Order: sequence, then C-alpha cells, then structure tokens
Amino acid sequence: MSYPWYTHSEYLKKRFGQSVYRIGVDAGFSCPNRNCDRSGGCIYCDGTGAVAVYQREEEKSGERSEKAFLERLESIEKQIERGKRFIHYRYKANLASLYFQSWSNTFAPVDRLKKIYDHALSLGDFCELVVSTRPDLLDDEVCALLESYQTPDRDVWVEVGLQSANDETLRKINRGHDRECYIRSIERLHRHGLKVCTHLLLMPCFDRRKTYLDAIELLNALKVEAVKIHNLHITYHTELERAFLEDGCISPSSISRHVEDVALMLSHLHSECIVERLLAETTKARLLCPRHFPDKRDILEMIAKKMAQNGWVQGSEIK
Ligand code: SF4
Repeated sequence: MSYPWYTHSEYLKKRFGQSVYRIGVDAGFSCPNRNCDRSGGCIYCDGTGAVAVYQREEEKSGERSEKAFLERLESIEKQIERGKRFIHYRYKANLASLYFQSWSNTFAPVDRLKKIYDHALSLGDFCELVVSTRPDLLDDEVCALLESYQTPDRDVWVEVGLQSANDETLRKINRGHDRECYIRSIERLHRHGLKVCTHLLLMPCFDRRKTYLDAIELLNALKVEAVKIHNLHITYHTELERAFLEDGCISPSSISRHVEDVALMLSHLHSECIVERLLAETTKARLLCPRHFPDKRDILEMIAKKMAQNGWVQGSEIK
C-alpha cells in the first residue's frame, strides 16, 4: 500500500537505491535521568534492559574498569555479528545501519564514546550510524565526534526524545529537560550537519490536540528531518502504572483517538519530514495497557484511510 506520508523505506530506497535494515546494539549505556537504585526517570520508563543502571556514576566519570569496558566491546561485536546474520538470512540484505538504540547512547566521556563507536563501525560496512539519546547529552564535543563519522557514503542520524512540546507535561512525566533544551540541542546538531529524528509521545491525559500540533509546528520550524510518533503504553513496574491503577488519572489513547490525532498531525507536518514510526511497540509481557490495539499494518491503513476521508496528505494543512 502506498501511504499519504513520506515513509522511511521510501526515503532509504531514494538515498541508497535499496532497502536498508537496522542492526540494533545495546552498548551498555545508562541514563542520567534514573538513579542508581533504579528509581526516578521518566514515569513511563520500566528500565527494561537496564544492564548499566548500577554503573551510572562510573559511566559519568569514566571510571568503569578496563575489563568491564573490554567486555562491553566484545558484547557489541557479538550483537553486530548476530544482527548481520539475521538480516542476511531473513532479507538477503547486505546494506545495514548501525543503530545504538537502548538507553542514552551519548552518556559517557567523549573518549569512551569514540572507542565504542570506532569499534562498532569497524565491524561492518554501515551506510548509517544512528544514535539515540536525550537532548541534554548533546554538547558541542559530542556533536563534533558524531560529525566526524559522516562520509559521502555514510550518514549520521541522532534520535532525540522530545515527547511533548509542553513544559508542564515534561515536568509531569519527569523527563528531566525542557522544551528549550530540546531546541538548543537540535540547533547544535544541525550546526554540525547531523540529521535528526525526534520522538513524540501522545499522552491524552496530559496534552491536548493543540499541544500535539504545537510539537509538529516546532519540528517544522527546526526543519527536523524525521519523526517517530508513539501512543502511550503503560508498562509494568513504572510510576505510570502506579498512577494508572491508584489515581485513575492516566488514560492512553483509544484506537480511534490515536488514528485521528496522528492523521491530523501528519497533515500539518512538513512534507520533507520522514515518518519513521506511528505506533509504539512493546512486548506483551511488559505491557499492562492498551492490550488490544490492532497490529501495525492495520493501524497504518486506518490512519491512511482517515487522511483520505479528509482529503489530506502529509503537509496539506500547513497554512
Ligand atoms: S530518558 Fe529514556 S532511559 Fe532515561 S528514564 Fe527516560 S525513558 Fe528511561
């Protein structure tokens, strides 16, 4: 099916002439927004894969032992080998992106980051380096390091979580940064010639449609290159779960609400912005609510149908 928005696969085929698959790597980073005892953090964060939470302070100061660091490099090597085998076996694909996906992948001293990225990139011929992180972990030194990995054949993308463009919501969900911090980080990334994908989270219990559109306007103004839009998932062992069960003040989007919100947002999103994702994905074992969303393909078709009913395509409603 062809969708009325600029899909990620369309972009990749245009850029590289073929499909590109991502090899996700957990490089053992942690997150400055969580405490060593695993408390704190964004209220929806369940700490899954928190291999390195206890290493938070050592990470910050760069004091992790050399042995632990070498083990970390070894683990990266194994993950990349597994990823390469998988995409080759499943898709017969040769072209891959290297995706530092878990946690905050710029949360370490720059010399450590360099060793990790250098090592991982030496293990394959990657056409993209994708690094997911927080806006408060992107100073000039980190941006310059990331910039150094760009070549004519390899792009560097940075995935930055904004989640909400509303400071009050950012406080309520304990993001640990504000809108201004996000804006400054995107401007800095762009000054270094890096491409940006922003994550947004739709939380009808905190934000209104106007706030969603405000976030889209911000992405348009900053000329953000790509977006991922997620519906709120309540996972076990989170502050969000507690608030959902005890306070009754939390509600994720219904199916129809999500479809309508996303269709509206896309109609206001600038047409050059690549749409990488429109739905959160969480394993059933971790997910309390919502449990009965249709699968991804069905949701995408519902969004496309809603846009067609309204006569919208991506960006058509920008005034
Ligand atoms: S920034 Fe990411 S890893 Fe850190 S607390 Fe929030 S959701 Fe969890």
